[in-house]
Amino acid sequence: MESIKFTNAHTHQASSRDAVSVVNLFPDEYPYRLIESGLYSIGLHPWHADGETDEELLAKVEQVARNEQVVAIGEVGLDRAKKGIANFQHQIEVFERQIEIAQNAKKPLVIHCVKAYSELISIRKKFPSNEVWVIHGFAANQTIANNLIGLNCVLSFGISVFNRNAKAHSTLPKIDINKILLETDETDFLPYDLYRYVAELLNININELKEIIHSNFEKFFKL
Ligand SMILES: [Zn+2]
Repeated sequence: MESIKFTNAHTHQASSRDAVSVVNLFPDEYPYRLIESGLYSIGLHPWHADGETDEELLAKVEQVARNEQVVAIGEVGLDRAKKGIANFQHQIEVFERQIEIAQNAKKPLVIHCVKAYSELISIRKKFPSNEVWVIHGFAANQTIANNLIGLNCVLSFGISVFNRNAKAHSTLPKIDINKILLETDETDFLPYDLYRYVAELLNININELKEIIHSNFEKFFKL
């Protein structure tokens, strides 16, 4: 029997052979980076919402949202830490436009959230839906984790779990394993390294972890 593949909820690299990945595309990368049978998220990132090209890029997101290979709208969201990007109010507007696109297309969202968890929670309350929101690179505490999970969000953990002083490291073992995903994002880490580390952190067998995350992945991305 072929063993279950690793699943990678969020990466910017081309999909690797040993993992099933959701590869993130910025709107202007579509369809150039698309390969047959790949899975993608597409969205206008808060870093790129400059107020000038937004309409064109949002139209592109809307236009491809129903494509079968586009399994999520993202990454989209809020960032309070990055300098030189759109002001927070503008970020919220661009985010909310894409929430509507995702809801109309019945797709989940992949969310980038930096130092804006309380606003994210309020926005989720304003847009309740059956579509899951995948909080990528989750980096907050257990209370925020559980608040988000209670609002039909799931949490995707990446390299910050390797850092013993990071909140992600202490939060991950305390939350429901059926609400988590794993991701490599912009790093060159192999999914294997991340899974091996997380299996140890959760004190479970790596194959068991793979199976659980695989089934979460299929459920959340509606595969
Ligand atoms: Zn990313």
